[in-house]
Amino acid sequence: MFAQFALHERLLKAVAELKFAEPTPVQVAAIPPALEGRDLRVIAQTGSGKTAAFVLPLLHRLLGAERPKIRTRALILLPTRELAQQTLKQVETFAQFTFLKAGLITGGEDFKVQAAMMRKEPDVLIGTPGRLIEHLEAGNLLLEAVEVLVLDEADRMLDMGFAEDAQRLAAACSGPRQTLLFSATSGGNALREVIGAVLKDPLHLKL
Ligand code: AMP
Repeated sequence: MFAQFALHERLLKAVAELKFAEPTPVQVAAIPPALEGRDLRVIAQTGSGKTAAFVLPLLHRLLGAERPKIRTRALILLPTRELAQQTLKQVETFAQFTFLKAGLITGGEDFKVQAAMMRKEPDVLIGTPGRLIEHLEAGNLLLEAVEVLVLDEADRMLDMGFAEDAQRLAAACSGPRQTLLFSATSGGNALREVIGAVLKDPLHLKL
């Protein structure tokens, strides 16, 4: 039962509409500590329900507090445009009964249109590191108010050469934040280095 989690009722309503009968193992393991604000390092496969495992606690957190002036309070990094698009869909589905807005920043889309979208300060930004760095350098990306940073498919992100970009984006999220890192494998030295740089006293979960 999803009601076992102390999630905002508007999120539980969205879950009920999806007719998810039971939470998956990664959701059972990750949602409670994520709701407590812990940093997490999770090894879980695509198809395990890992997206909901980070999206639900992230949205819950954004619903709980008063909205500050700079509104982009969550950043979700993914290695590819397709994964970013799929994640946006899940965020929009889970947020459908809330006021929260999400935006997508990936390569292959118009830069100026993306800059205009960011001026509206979506609550959640979802994107790929390369294009996000271009916007950071152009001064379009305000990340100081980010409270939750997610690196999904982190091992693949590093394989694609995004280690430095991902670390720069994490550093630009300069305020106090919770960081959730997901990967399909335990990864190598490069992943360990990123974990050491971006996570604080993380809980390690292997599903
Ligand atoms: P993911 O591993 O996040 O890519 O999720 C794979 C698929 O499982 C997505 O289409 C989700 O909508 C679906 N899903 C996530 N959680 C559950 C659940 N508790 N019960 C049934 N389906 C789910």
